[in-house]
Amino acid sequence: MTTVDEPAPTGPAPLPVATTSPHALVVGAGIAGLAAARSLHRAGWQVTVCERAPARRTGGYFVRLAPEGVEAAERLGVDESLRSRLPADGIITGVDGRGRTISRVDAAIVEDGVSLALVRGDLEAALWAGLPDEVEVRFSSAPSAVADDGTVTLDGNTRRWDLVVAADGVRSTVREMVFGPEAAFRHDFDHVVVSAVLPRLPGTLVEGDYVVLVEPGRTAHLMAMAGHDPVVFFTYRADLPQAVGTEPAAHPTEALRAVYGDFDGLMPEILDLVVEAGTTHADTVGQIHLRRWSSGRVVLLGDSAWCPTLYSGHGSALALAGGEALGRHLRVPDDGAAPDVPAALAAWEAERRPGTRSARTAARRARHFFLPGNRLITALRGLAMRVASWPVVSRVFGSGARARGTDVHRTATASSGPVPRRRP
Ligand SMILES: Cc1cc2nc3c(=O)[nH]c(=O)nc-3n(C[C@H](O)[C@H](O)[C@H](O)COP(=O)(O)OP(=O)(O)OC[C@H]3O[C@@H](n4cnc5c(N)ncnc54)[C@H](O)[C@@H]3O)c2cc1C
Repeated sequence: MTTVDEPAPTGPAPLPVATTSPHALVVGAGIAGLAAARSLHRAGWQVTVCERAPARRTGGYFVRLAPEGVEAAERLGVDESLRSRLPADGIITGVDGRGRTISRVDAAIVEDGVSLALVRGDLEAALWAGLPDEVEVRFSSAPSAVADDGTVTLDGNTRRWDLVVAADGVRSTVREMVFGPEAAFRHDFDHVVVSAVLPRLPGTLVEGDYVVLVEPGRTAHLMAMAGHDPVVFFTYRADLPQAVGTEPAAHPTEALRAVYGDFDGLMPEILDLVVEAGTTHADTVGQIHLRRWSSGRVVLLGDSAWCPTLYSGHGSALALAGGEALGRHLRVPDDGAAPDVPAALAAWEAERRPGTRSARTAARRARHFFLPGNRLITALRGLAMRVASWPVVSRVFGSGARARGTDVHRTATASSGPVPRRRP
């Protein structure tokens, strides 16, 4: 499935005039921003969204939407179109750099029966479709100045907003303008992540296959999604000898060739496909830690506030749930009186803190398993995966997930029928 990008508007439209109902500016039309826009609109706010990109950012990379995100999507009423794109009865195959299979694990071992295996574009599309017409979205639009009293300069105009939601991602410029330089809040993992959507499947892979290519300090995860072009993401240590001197953010495909060029098996073809398709994301991996997520009328949301990194498996869920919760805390009363924004933001933050804290802690632990640093940890990881695939172990670990059960639309994949299986 490929989503067509929205056409970019031809020039900046004048800013909307302030009216009696409170008016929020949401910066960033990612998962957090779109969730907040919908939620605030439902809570009685006028909402304007500004997005730096010239058009909707569709497609993207693999995302496992954790239960908290699925529940928030339900509360926002955007869950109906969300379907898992990897079969729950699939197999995760581990392969080493020489192309040898080192583990095979029943995918059910990582299934909780509620999470959804998606691409980022599925979430974006569901949230976009749920956006009411009254919400104005401005593309090619980014604030040049933001003050914590809500005064924003946007597209050459300056005005005051009742609320400014900075959902502009881990490299947030609003955070920089209001809270200070990123270096003060960023905890780098010294890892790089690069993702791509491939035009076709490499080798003999078929829909539903999930392959992990792993060597010390280097992994690549390839998912043959149902009803979507295959997605791949690479994570590697930035201090590997072959990575030193590369510029992954500026020249990601060159960096991948330098770091993964010695892999055999599927990798050479995967690299060719990445060069053909281009990348969808390339950056270093780092968490964001702040003491406060709001200052006056400006609130940070999603990765700009608490980025837990991809290793947590919770970034999208927290972005979605955090955006949904904003509207619940900032409901405009029936008499139309403006809510007490700083008090509501403090209550919202108290609700959101524990979940983000545990996601960041989980990510710090998981990064070593996700990206084993040396041969010993790589071998232990392979062993752990093999043990997990023993029937008795997978019965023990898998039974909780299966016993919890779920409704049909959560477990159904986007695939229309049984998938023939061949292995790498
Ligand atoms: C490879 C990869 C795999 C991942 N896997 C998972 C997973 O399995 N499970 C999971 O839960 N999470 C996963 N994540 C993390 C998850 O994708 C993020 O945590 C989540 O998307 C954050 O959403 P966000 O809206 O806060 O930020 P973003 O998605 O970064 O959106 C920010 C938006 O703001 C826009 N913007 C930026 N600056 C400005 C500006 N100045 N003005 C206006 N607009 C601006 C950007 O163009 C963008 O549209 C993964 C991430 C990566 C990279």
